[in-house]
Amino acid sequence: MIPLALTAQCDAPAPFVTRLRRARSDHPHDSWCVATTTAQSVWCGLRGLIQLDCPAASLDGDVVLVDPGADRAERMLRAGSRHNSLLVTERCDQLCTMCSQPPKKTHTDRFALLTEACLLAERDAVIGITGGEPTLFKHALLGMIETVLSERPDLRFHVLSNGQHFERGDIERLRAPHYRRVVWGIPLYADDADLHDRIVGKAGAFERLHDSFDHLLLAGARVELRTVLLANALDRLPYLARHVVVLLSHVEQWSLMGLENIGFARSRWAKLYVDLRTQFGPLGEALDIATLHGLPARLFNLPLCHVPSAFRHHAVASISDWKQRFAAGCASCRARSDCSGFFEWHPAHLLDEVEPL
Ligand code: SF4
Repeated sequence: MIPLALTAQCDAPAPFVTRLRRARSDHPHDSWCVATTTAQSVWCGLRGLIQLDCPAASLDGDVVLVDPGADRAERMLRAGSRHNSLLVTERCDQLCTMCSQPPKKTHTDRFALLTEACLLAERDAVIGITGGEPTLFKHALLGMIETVLSERPDLRFHVLSNGQHFERGDIERLRAPHYRRVVWGIPLYADDADLHDRIVGKAGAFERLHDSFDHLLLAGARVELRTVLLANALDRLPYLARHVVVLLSHVEQWSLMGLENIGFARSRWAKLYVDLRTQFGPLGEALDIATLHGLPARLFNLPLCHVPSAFRHHAVASISDWKQRFAAGCASCRARSDCSGFFEWHPAHLLDEVEPL
């Protein structure tokens, strides 16, 4: 697993963002390497010296948020990675049964620092925004997106949101040309309101979500629909597919995602996990319905050997590099470079059962 948080020593009086460079740089936001070993590196910039518990070669080009008070540095944007996401809040107004990052009540406003980090991103980067629920702080979030996209026309955002907070009053703002470079990843778990509400732990969420879909449609917003595969909603997938192609045909993509064995899902794994090797039927039917109606449907976070060959072209190697893992048996698999593999925390016995292609 690639570490995203580092131990840091620094005398600066407050948290700050800097980009790490092995070679000396004149950019005011850069810190350049002055010493490195196989275990540590020291960097120098306008905020003084920073010591990190990681060699310089692994950090060259990374944008980090250094928090001197916490002796910590967060690798916000890793150089060369396609999987950079910024956590804007840990608060959320849903309590999803399988939440991989259970919400907290506290919130620290870091939008100014996050904006600085985005402005230092590599050229043409797609920056993920996650939470908690980012749109609980919608105006600050939209302000950050607009500031960054105004100054950096090469960048794009992918924002994960529960879709509970878009309003009629947002339509004009979201129609601005900048938002053609923003995709909203929004979950819908069932065509049945009660089932969806039970999964997200919030009464009325399904109805409110569909109000938001209406507002986003009127704004011309780009939406990626997301559905985590759950045992208690598996049989309804074909019905959900019909709901999507009829009522939400404007979405750009429907992403159907394997369950992550972390957060709330860890203790509920036996109840929620779907073994697609034996239970692919409803998912296959849903994929066929989407395909028939011209809706791009993708399978995320699933090892290719768990997907029947006729449906493998839907699968995307999607698990982020820092939390991706392969089994020993994958070494001989011809499909490995196209495969998601497993999450680092996936149950070990499932890794022992891979069937190399
Ligand atoms: S054997 Fe490993 S690399 Fe091959 S499809 Fe299965 S999980 Fe993927």
